[in-house]
Order: sequence, then C-alpha cells, then structure tokens
Amino acid sequence: MGKRKTRSFVDKVAKGTGPRGTRCEICGEIIKNIKTIRPYKSKSGNWRYIEEMHKVCKCNEKEILIDKSIS
Ligand SMILES: [Zn+2]
Repeated sequence: MGKRKTRSFVDKVAKGTGPRGTRCEICGEIIKNIKTIRPYKSKSGNWRYIEEMHKVCKCNEKEILIDKSIS
C-alpha cells in the first residue's frame, strides 16, 4: 500500500507536470525561485535584513548574484 503511493508521487515529479517547471521564454531555462537576504542599516543604526524571493534564470542570474554579493 505505502509503496504504491510513493511510486505514483515519484512519477509525477519525474514528469515535471507541477507548476514549478516553468521555462523562461527567452533562454529556455527552468525558472528557479531563489531567496536572498539583504542587509541594510536602519535609521536607529541597527542592521536589519530583508528577505526577497527572486525568479532566476540565465537572463538575470548574474545581475542578482552581483547585486547580492555584499551579504
Ligand atoms: Zn531567461
């Protein structure tokens, strides 16, 4: 029983039918969701962090990596 359920789940993943397999129309790469954490100094002088989600493919991965290299 348990084995059957596991197998059907794996099949679905392997086929890539989920919404996460979106391809970029420009470069054809699968678009990945990447979380970055960016530090910034607040008015009171404390360091705080912003978490941001990015959709990354070959078109913009360099921009995002350069932009976030401080952290
Ligand atoms: Zn792209």
